[in-house]
Amino acid sequence: SDRKANPYSHLFKYIMVGDSAVGKSNLLLQFVDKRFSPNSDFTIGVEFGSRSINIDNNQVKLQIWDTAGQEKFRSITRAYYRGAVGALIVYDITRRETFEGLANWLTDCRKYSSTDVTIVLVGNKCDLEASRQVSYAEASSFANEHGLLFFETSAKTGSNVDEAFEQTAKIIFERTK
Ligand code: GDP
Ligand code: MG
Repeated sequence: SDRKANPYSHLFKYIMVGDSAVGKSNLLLQFVDKRFSPNSDFTIGVEFGSRSINIDNNQVKLQIWDTAGQEKFRSITRAYYRGAVGALIVYDITRRETFEGLANWLTDCRKYSSTDVTIVLVGNKCDLEASRQVSYAEASSFANEHGLLFFETSAKTGSNVDEAFEQTAKIIFERTK
């Protein structure tokens, strides 16, 4: 393959925000490495991961920044958001309070990211259907109201994980070409 000779033609910075323990690090791990860590104390050890995808025969590199622990203190700096063209706002479908906190994350994204940032609402842990506290319909209508893409994912099974990252990239790609 000529991947090394022609590494990528586009670089998109993504950020991941949302309350602690909703699964941000595992979504990144699943997307980049096709792995899942059941350990709740797991720390990814890096603050970002990247993967290249193909869109219309273009190599597009996604550089994804994970808020490693800072979300507990809501101290995510403006520098973190700067230049982001994609933002994943993640909540946990089994913990309603993580959905109630979305408006604050959305405000920060709009305030500090690129003006044309594409924001995706991600309801994670959809493998835990029996413990669901937020319905698909309610989250979907929140997303519609605020002009966001919406996916329910499982970082554990991998369900919809590639789709969430890749659909976002396609939209960004269309806007920037
Ligand atoms: P973060 O704090 O938002 O980065 O969340 P983590 O990725 O560290 O995940 C927090 C906990 O939830 C860990 O115990 C994960 O194994 C678990 N977890 C993450 N995603 C999923 C998922 O899709 N399904 C299930 N069942 N557990 C998950
Ligand atoms: Mg994390």
